[in-house]
Amino acid sequence: MPIDTLLPVPNFTGGEWMIPETTETTPVYNPSTGQKIAETPMCGAELVDASVRNAHEAFADWSETPPVERIRVLFRYKMLLEDNFEAIAAIITREHGKNLAEARGDIRRGIEVVEYACSIPELMKGEILENVARGIDCEMVKQPLGVCVGICPYNFPALAPMWMYPMAIATGNTFIFKPSEKVPLTAIRLIELLQQAGLPPGVLNIIHGGRECVDALLVHPLVRAISFVGSSPVAKYVYEKGIQHGKRVQAAGGAKNYVFVLPDADMANTAGGLNDAAFGCAGQRCMAGSTAVLIGKAADRLIKPLSDIVSRIQVGPTDRGTGGTMGAVISPAHRDRVSRLLEGGVKEGADLLIDGRGVVVPEEPNGFYLGPSIVDRVESRMEIAREEVFGPVLNLMRFDDLEAAIELANHTPFGNGACIYTQSGSAAREFKHRIKAGMVGINVGVPAPLAYFPFSGWDYSFFGDLHLQGREGVLFYTRHKVTTSRWFSYGEGDIWHKD
Ligand code: NAD
Repeated sequence: MPIDTLLPVPNFTGGEWMIPETTETTPVYNPSTGQKIAETPMCGAELVDASVRNAHEAFADWSETPPVERIRVLFRYKMLLEDNFEAIAAIITREHGKNLAEARGDIRRGIEVVEYACSIPELMKGEILENVARGIDCEMVKQPLGVCVGICPYNFPALAPMWMYPMAIATGNTFIFKPSEKVPLTAIRLIELLQQAGLPPGVLNIIHGGRECVDALLVHPLVRAISFVGSSPVAKYVYEKGIQHGKRVQAAGGAKNYVFVLPDADMANTAGGLNDAAFGCAGQRCMAGSTAVLIGKAADRLIKPLSDIVSRIQVGPTDRGTGGTMGAVISPAHRDRVSRLLEGGVKEGADLLIDGRGVVVPEEPNGFYLGPSIVDRVESRMEIAREEVFGPVLNLMRFDDLEAAIELANHTPFGNGACIYTQSGSAAREFKHRIKAGMVGINVGVPAPLAYFPFSGWDYSFFGDLHLQGREGVLFYTRHKVTTSRWFSYGEGDIWHKD
């Protein structure tokens, strides 16, 4: 399907691409240029119902399809993703604004989930114990749930949905994918390829929309499970409403990730790692290292090399392969929000070491650009310290000792990630053991989630019990059935002792 000409973008229901009959749409922009490139239809309860019913019908056959046949589709899908790798990266860049290297990372990590899902016959195996009592055996098998839903954010147009649907369909479920209304085009290409790989109609469906669409999915009686990735207030809402309506829910939320720097750290590598952690994807990452916690004399040693690297960042268009190293943010409204938070930080007493507001990109004056900013002497009472900024802003906080800094980090609501840069094994061990965060990095700025481990957010960064990816992902998309069986065999009953 030539997605350049799609205005508005289609839903995918029961194996058919259909432009929904709805007058309400949300514009989709190329953030690099500010041009409108598509419109997302905002679907409501009626279209949700049609989509869920299709998925429900498809479940009957797909759940009975042998796992080894299901993964043959995924093997073909993996090859199609590789063949179309650069084309997908270009779509991500165009509708999101991240640079090509970042877009390639987005799709590469997603492919790793497909590869992991290809081992589902092994991962879905159950357990058996003979002779739980004499002649009685007990076994546990994992069975799929039914119709599962994935509601996605804008910042990883490929990866966030791929945390969900490869695992959901490999385990025998059918799936409704609700992409972010801001980046619907990557979703279309990803699912076209899945259709090309031979996925039967109805097994995976796309429905576009916003709150009304999500609400209809959360209460639909045929929906069994909801996977959500997005901001924390919406994650909490989705979790609470979903469980009230009897769904299994995993809801990953926002973050405020701390990167501790000890005075003994290798400062050149630390500065490079922090630069990437804070400004990669223009800071629009739930694993962004958005606050550097500088212990003791670390500030004196880090700020100069860090500022040198950051001041070399080029900001510019990313959709033509020749552009800058840091792209635009998703919308003018988001750029304004980030600028307002920066302004607030200054008013509350922080020092703006590098100010990225008002950056000029002459070749694309209408793009949604913000340069990188570094704010020093941020204190925990400030709004910029408490709110997830989700833009190219790095806060610096200063502490005299590790103890006080751990204490502060452990009393913030979020718990996605935390990192430490040090050459001290004992300090790293202390940090790793005591820090209240689910993803920890040691001399690594972004402890990126990997397909074969759970993406283990804690506290206000995750609502639910079983995380996305890894074995927890398998458990989330299956339920256990335990069967106790007894066969009247030798020594029991009449069959063997007729005389
Ligand atoms: P968002 O919460 O605004 O939107 C996420 C999804 O929820 C979208 O599909 C949107 O249509 C829907 N939605 C928005 N408002 C809603 C409402 N009131 N009711 C029901 N549905 C609603 O998030 P976003 O701006 O698209 O993405 C950025 C956020 O996602 C950041 O907070 C980031 O940290 C977070 N995120 C978290 C992870 C993680 O794994 N923890 C990963 C990526 C992004």
